[in-house]
Amino acid sequence: MPALNMCSVLFVGGGQREMGEEESGFVDMEWCLALPKIELHAHLNGSVRDATLLELAKDLGNKGVLVFSDVEHVIKKSDRSLAECFKLFDLIHIITTDHATVSRITKEVVEDFAAENVVYLELRTTPKTNETIGMTKSSYVEAVMKGLRAVETVEVVLSPCASTLEPEPSTSVNDASTKKKQGRIFVCLLLSIDRRETTASAMETVQLALKMRNQGVVGLDLSGNPITGDWITFLPALSCAREQGLPITLHCGEVRNPKEIKAMLEFCPERIGHACCLEDEEWKMLKSLNIPVEICLTSNVRTNSISSLHDHHFDDLYRVNHPLILCTDDVGIFSTSLSHEYYLAASTFGLSKAQMFELSRGAIRHIFAQDGVKAFLNEVFDSAQTGLLWRK
Ligand code: 5GP
Repeated sequence: MPALNMCSVLFVGGGQREMGEEESGFVDMEWCLALPKIELHAHLNGSVRDATLLELAKDLGNKGVLVFSDVEHVIKKSDRSLAECFKLFDLIHIITTDHATVSRITKEVVEDFAAENVVYLELRTTPKTNETIGMTKSSYVEAVMKGLRAVETVEVVLSPCASTLEPEPSTSVNDASTKKKQGRIFVCLLLSIDRRETTASAMETVQLALKMRNQGVVGLDLSGNPITGDWITFLPALSCAREQGLPITLHCGEVRNPKEIKAMLEFCPERIGHACCLEDEEWKMLKSLNIPVEICLTSNVRTNSISSLHDHHFDDLYRVNHPLILCTDDVGIFSTSLSHEYYLAASTFGLSKAQMFELSRGAIRHIFAQDGVKAFLNEVFDSAQTGLLWRK
């Protein structure tokens, strides 16, 4: 932008523009791709490329571990109920859970998010054990870290958790000088507790997260099949994390379960995911507690948690200014992308470019990384603003 003189600058809706510039047209997919974005709800094993899954499944078929023709159609199917998604996750875990493959899918997932202009990614994954191949929860997360170091297309910056006692600088983890690299992505990890786990196993994940909070682990997630397990099983581990200042996000209200939803809201997590099946009283509670909601439009409609996009609670939450963040959940499982989720929100709910820009920037307030990262991300949005919102 040329040097500004005070008379020629207009301030509009928090934005800044020069005389002679007008607001540019409607939100389209190209604009959503160019928009800097922040992804706070993405499951590693739900974000694997279909092509990679098919290649790995074929390999295991050749080794006699599975019958490829039995799994090919399961991977290729696009419409799945919530129950079918969890069956697919079990299959994906058989296909991906060895150290080298975990590193490979991590690298690919980060490169895919960076390619669509995601500038900050909180990637969540459930640390897994497999004695037969010497995999511990800790070695699983190390394999994820190795995948981050292997990223080739973009500089990967790891940032410590906001609750880290000593401020630690964010650090590049891959070789930033390689000529192929374009841009920079901040990546942080959330360790997930699966609802099938025991209290002891959940506690092990919390201890691991606490140990790694200087190395890019910024929080915890509770996920897994919502009709399995009891909130009370995970409460001791989550309370322990809370006492140590580790931020928490919970999958909450994917199915009707008023007692659990109330208990989760009373715990007052830093964020929740989905919030599809809340009754009036729980809605009031969510709103009065002002808990930010990670919204996953495609996932909620595909899994029938919400009957249609037009009925999605995004609309209600957005109109009352409730904190919310657009996210993908599982780009692989639901064949979507974060840019597509932004496009869906704009086209379904009639939002302008300025509104979408502020929605994307607003996610910065809810990241779990240290404050220094927030300042950096705000600068990224400042420099993208003029080009995205105004045309000469
Ligand atoms: P992973 O943690 O293995 O990297 O990612 C896949 C896992 O994330 C699944 O096995 C499941 O536990 C969790 N997950 C992915 N998508 C969803 C979802 O939409 N709802 C819930 N509750 N859990 C999910």
